[in-house]
Amino acid sequence: MIKNSASCKQRGVGWKSSGQLETRYSLMHNIPKTNQFVVAALYQFISVDDIELWQKKLKDICTSCDLMGTLLIADEGLNGTISGRCDDMHRFIDWLLEKTIFSAPELKFAVHETLPFHRMKVRLKREIVTMGAKGISPTRQAGTYVSPKDWNALISEPGVMVVDTRNDYEVAIGQFQGAVNPLTKTFREFPQWAEALAAMPEEERPKKLAMYCTGGIRCEKSTALMKNLGFEDVYHLKGGILQYLEDIPQEQSLWEGECFVFDSRVAVDHNLQRGQYALCHACKMPLNADEMKTQAYVAGISCPHCIDKTSAIQRARFAERARQIELAKQRGTTHIGVSPKISKSQKMTPKKVNRKIYKSEKS
Ligand SMILES: [Zn+2]
Repeated sequence: MIKNSASCKQRGVGWKSSGQLETRYSLMHNIPKTNQFVVAALYQFISVDDIELWQKKLKDICTSCDLMGTLLIADEGLNGTISGRCDDMHRFIDWLLEKTIFSAPELKFAVHETLPFHRMKVRLKREIVTMGAKGISPTRQAGTYVSPKDWNALISEPGVMVVDTRNDYEVAIGQFQGAVNPLTKTFREFPQWAEALAAMPEEERPKKLAMYCTGGIRCEKSTALMKNLGFEDVYHLKGGILQYLEDIPQEQSLWEGECFVFDSRVAVDHNLQRGQYALCHACKMPLNADEMKTQAYVAGISCPHCIDKTSAIQRARFAERARQIELAKQRGTTHIGVSPKISKSQKMTPKKVNRKIYKSEKS
């Protein structure tokens, strides 16, 4: 389980983010000092000439530092989440900043009681965050960064269109006041929405765009897309929603609801504490308290979103998996056994079901 920010802060550790202006010293200094596991989420858009060479170098260093997790490398940069012991993470980050082209990554750290990953993968990809639009280069074209402290003023300006670049199931549980929801099921659908906006008559098209996402990577790419489509005044929230929640006091906050996160907390509130949502472990949809009270919801097995989409055999496998995880918990070990995944064609991703669900919820 990931420690929330508030309790970590008291012990001098917690979520930290960095930018190009921060020194190597402060990046190293931000690594939590803990006997538990350190999780690092990092990305950097940078033009990479030899992705195979970097794949090999990253694999070697991660193996020698005993790190687990996934890194994605593409022509446009590096992205991923890794975990390990504090000293090992220190060694890796030191190497990354000193010996590689990835010397100015966006970095966030958290502390985890158990090792959250059990393999180390370094994958070659076409994009480090998949949008599917051709000819987009965040290293050349991205919008202007706005720090969390300047964000409220920007989004309160008349005539500014505030755009939430996240998926609909994320927007559904929280967003900035007045933000536009492009109703995308996946980030791949974003360019279609953006092109439609660009095709509007001149007088109806927004003159100024303020864009945001969870940690910054998706809006870095989508601001590049908007620039490519001819929008000139394009801004994005540096460090994303998570940085805003960390920096801005709740009484000044223009954030409403909870922020969906891609870890065991599911969603966080304004204090970055675990929110009220749980994840269905069969289909990975966030579930609110009411949904968890329905008959369809059985922890680890089914929920209202997926009960009709899985077979009895699959649910039996989920039940067995839940039983194994519970046993592992009681033994104080982590379950890393077989993962009884739904076959690809039947797989219920949040992406596949969210539109239907949240449309009916919101209306
Ligand atoms: Zn489900």
